[in-house]
Amino acid sequence: MSDVKNVVIIGSGPAGLTAALYSARAELKPVVIAGLKPGGQLTETTEVENFPGFPEGIQGPELMEKMLAQVKRFGTEVVSENVVSVDFSKKPLAIATDTQTFYSKAVIIATGADANWLGLDNEQKLRGKGVSACATCDGFFFRGKEVVVIGGGDSAMEEANFLTKFATQVTIVHRRAEFKASKIMLKRAQDNPKIKFITDVTVVDVIGTDRVEGVKVKHNDTGAEENISCQGYFAAIGHTPATSIFKNSGLEINDMGYIVPKQFTETSIPGVFVAGDVHDHRYRQAVTAAGEGCKAALDAEKYLQAQES
Ligand code: NDP
Repeated sequence: MSDVKNVVIIGSGPAGLTAALYSARAELKPVVIAGLKPGGQLTETTEVENFPGFPEGIQGPELMEKMLAQVKRFGTEVVSENVVSVDFSKKPLAIATDTQTFYSKAVIIATGADANWLGLDNEQKLRGKGVSACATCDGFFFRGKEVVVIGGGDSAMEEANFLTKFATQVTIVHRRAEFKASKIMLKRAQDNPKIKFITDVTVVDVIGTDRVEGVKVKHNDTGAEENISCQGYFAAIGHTPATSIFKNSGLEINDMGYIVPKQFTETSIPGVFVAGDVHDHRYRQAVTAAGEGCKAALDAEKYLQAQES
C-alpha cells in the first residue's frame, strides 16, 4: 500500500482540530476528514465567552475558522468530505468517504455529538436568539430574564439549577408527570425557589420573531393551550453522538451510543483513539474537547513510536 498516513482524524470540531494541531506539530502529517460542514457544534452558536484567550468573546464560527487556519499553517491536509464507513479489522486502518479511501496507522475519532431538538420551526429560526441547548455556554446572557428548560432528565435539572444563577425564573417543561432524572437532581431542582415545573404538556411552538418571547404548550390531559412568557428556551432532551458509522467497527459503544474508551483516549481497538463529545456526555465543552484532542494526539504519537521501535 503506497500511501499509508500516520494519523487520520475524523471530525473538525475543537477536539479534531486540536488533535490535528498537535499531530501536525509532531510532524505526523495528519489528515482531517472534516465533514461537509467543518467546525462542529460551535459553527452553530453565536457568542462564545468561555473559550480562554478571548477576553471580549468570539463568535463560534470565527473561533472554528481560526482553529482551521492554525492547523493548516502546520501542514494539515483537510478533506471536506463525510466518512461513510471504516474498516478497523486489520492494519492499516481504512477510512472511506464517498470518493476515496484513506489508510492510516492511527485514527483519532472526534465526530462529536449533536443536541437533540423538538423539531419546531422556530426552535431553529431562533437559535442564538434566545434558543440554546447549552446553559453552561449561554446562561450568562439571561441575567435578569425568564427562561424555560425543556426535558425531564438529569441535564434538564442541572441546566435549570445552573440557570437560576442568572435568570429570575426558570420553568422546567416536561412531557410527562414522572421524571427520568435521578432523585437527588430532581429534588435539588424542586427545592430551588426560582424553579417552577409544568408537566404533562407538549411544546407546540416557540413564540417570537426576532427573539424568543415565550413558549406555547398544550396540556396533554385537557388539550388546553398555555403561553409561558420567557426570553430564553433551553432544550435539554439529550444528545446524539455521531457514531453510526462505527456500529460494526468492533469499537465498544454504550447503550446511549457513545464510544467507550479503554484507558485515557485509547479505545478497544489498538491505534484508534477518541476525543471529545463522541465519548463524553458529561462535560461537553469546547475547551474540554480541545484538551482531549491534545491528549489523543499525544497518545497516538506514543502508539506510533512504539510500533516503530
Ligand atoms: P436523558 O435521555 O436522560 O433525558 C432526556 C429527557 O428529555 C427525558 O426526560 C425525555 O423525556 C425528554 N425528551 C426526550 N425527547 C423528547 C421529546 N421529543 N419531547 C419532549 N421531551 C423529550 O438525557 P440527559 O441529557 O438528561 O442525560 C443524558 C445522560 O447524562 C443520563 O445518563 C444522565 O444521567 C447523564 N447526566 C448526568 C448528570 C450528572 O450526573 N450531573 C448531568 C447531566 C446528564 P422522557 O422522560 O419522557 O423520556
